[in-house]
Amino acid sequence: MKQADLIWMNGELVAWDDAKVHVLTHALHYGTGVFEGVRAYDTPRGTGIFRHADHLDRLFRSAGMYLMEIPFTRDELRAATHDLIARNGLKSCYIRPLVYRGAGPMGLFPLDCPVDVVIAVWEWGAYLGDEGKQRGVRGKVSSFRRISSDAVIPAAKATGQYLNSVLAKIEASKAGYEEAILLDDRGLVCEGSGENLFVVKDGAIATPGFSSDILGGINRASVMQIARDLGYAVVERDVARGELYLADEIFMTGTAAELTPLREVDDRPVGTGEPGEVTRTLQREFEDALHGRSERYAEWLDLVASPAPAT
Ligand code: PMP
Repeated sequence: MKQADLIWMNGELVAWDDAKVHVLTHALHYGTGVFEGVRAYDTPRGTGIFRHADHLDRLFRSAGMYLMEIPFTRDELRAATHDLIARNGLKSCYIRPLVYRGAGPMGLFPLDCPVDVVIAVWEWGAYLGDEGKQRGVRGKVSSFRRISSDAVIPAAKATGQYLNSVLAKIEASKAGYEEAILLDDRGLVCEGSGENLFVVKDGAIATPGFSSDILGGINRASVMQIARDLGYAVVERDVARGELYLADEIFMTGTAAELTPLREVDDRPVGTGEPGEVTRTLQREFEDALHGRSERYAEWLDLVASPAPAT
C-alpha cells in the first residue's frame, strides 16, 4: 500500500508511522468501531470528494446505532479531511475515517471507554483491478451467509461486522475468484463482500433491498439515480440465487470497486460472458460523475481547496 505522510488522530496530524493505538484498545478486542470508505478524485475543478456529506452522515448513523457519541461535528471532520488531503499533497485518494472505542475499562460493556477518531488517506487504484472494471470479474456465491439484523446491525458500517466479509473474501479468493457474493439468512442474494449487487434482465434492473440486510451503499444509490435518470426501470426487491444464472448482466458497486461488472458467477458466464450494454452505459455515466466530467451530478463532489502556495 502506498503510504501518505500524515494521519489525522483525534484532532492532531501525526506522521504515518506514529499513528498507533494501545493494545488494550476496546475495538481491537471486540470490534467496537464504525468506519467509512470514501474516495476523492482528481477532477477538472480540483480534488473532489465523492458524496462526502452522505459518507459523513452514514458514519454518524453507524456510530449512533452502536451508541457511540462522536466527539467532533460533521463540519469538523469534513474540514479535517480537506486539510489532510491538502497537507499530504494528494490529488486523488481513498479516505478512511474510523471511529472506535479506545483504551478504557476492559469487558464487554463499552460505554465507559473513550471514543477515538482517526482519518487516513492514501492513493489506492481500482480495488478489483483495472482489468476487472473493463472485462468483469469472476464471482462465487459464498458458503458464509451475510450477517443478519437479528444478531447485529447490518445497516451500520461497523468494524467487527467485517469478520463476515473477511471470511467470504478469503473463501472466494482461495477458490480462485475475485469476489464473493453473500446470500442473506433467507438464502436470497444480498451483496458482495464490500459491494452492492445489481442484476439486469431484459433491460430491467433489480437490486436487493434493506430486507436482505444490505449495507445501504452510497454508490448503489448513485447508480440507481443515474439509471433512472437515463430512463431505466430500477426495482429494489428480493433476488433469488437462481436469478444470478439467468441474468443478462450483473454488476457490483462500492467506493473501493466503483462499478465493476461480473463476467461469471459460479463458473457460469453472465449473459455473453462480457459486460453488457446496460452495465457499460451506467459505468460510463458513473465514471463521468466520479471524475467531475458530468454537469448533472456536479454537486456530488465536495471540492477540496488547493493548499496555499508556500511563501
Ligand atoms: N456492502 C458492504 C458490505 C460494504 O463494505 C460496502 C462498502 N462500503 C458496500 C456494500 C458499498 O457501499 P458504498 O457504495 O457506500 O461504498
